[in-house]
Amino acid sequence: MNATALELSLVVPVYNERENLAPLVDEIATALAGGGGGGAVRYEIVAVDDGSSDGSLEELKVLKRAHPELHIVSFAANAGQTAAFAAGFKAARGAIVVTLDADLQNDPADIPALVAELRRSGATAVAGYRVNRRDTPWKRVQSRIANGIRNRLNQETIRDTGCSLKAFRTEAVRDLPLFAGMHRFLPTLIKMNGGTVAEVPVRHRPRRYGASKYGMWNRAFRALLDAFVVRWMQRRALRYTVTEELP
Ligand code: UDP
Ligand code: MG
Repeated sequence: MNATALELSLVVPVYNERENLAPLVDEIATALAGGGGGGAVRYEIVAVDDGSSDGSLEELKVLKRAHPELHIVSFAANAGQTAAFAAGFKAARGAIVVTLDADLQNDPADIPALVAELRRSGATAVAGYRVNRRDTPWKRVQSRIANGIRNRLNQETIRDTGCSLKAFRTEAVRDLPLFAGMHRFLPTLIKMNGGTVAEVPVRHRPRRYGASKYGMWNRAFRALLDAFVVRWMQRRALRYTVTEELP
């Protein structure tokens, strides 16, 4: 693959998602094959195996034989979704990064619209928001409350920051200060660095294989604490203007 010509790097965190991987790679290929007038997109899938114990890494290696666009990064042990994103951003060779979950809850068919909006709007990032959320009512309630609190604390307007389906300009995403849990605040971090964020509606699907990795404590509670950390970062951000420099 010609590394300089890559348009798109899909960054996918994988933690015990073995049965989802083959359909995911196929659906991405279908979505990016170039049906709607444009030619096929030159892309790679950076799949970051976050210490899976269910054979996900072995499955990725098998898939790579038929899919050279698969670029595998494998962690020694589970390090969390933000670490997986960070490693994926570092490994990405495309000009644009699109993040999505490995569990097929995000629909790869939405990727072209996200990328088109990034190009059309000139924004630094485009965040998807799930219009017809296919999760349990309990999870949807948690998510609504968390988004409300987070937006208030961080003076944000992002509709659905828990939606992994997002597009970024690669150089912008490499500059972000990332700590565990910060994958939920990527749009806010982009804005803190002077970038702009657009939003587009995306589809959502129920999880067919495997289980969710989060419960109330490691999602809602930690995300609330993290919103205070982000608020602190926003308040303490360095703001200065250099008027002259005479070396
Ligand atoms: N994930 C990961 N490391 C973790 C937890 C999750 O790489 O420690 C991945 C997981 O495999 C999936 C994505 O992050 O691709 C989102 O996780 P999940 O679907 O469990 O979250 P939910 O949809 O319940 O918010
Ligand atoms: Mg999921």
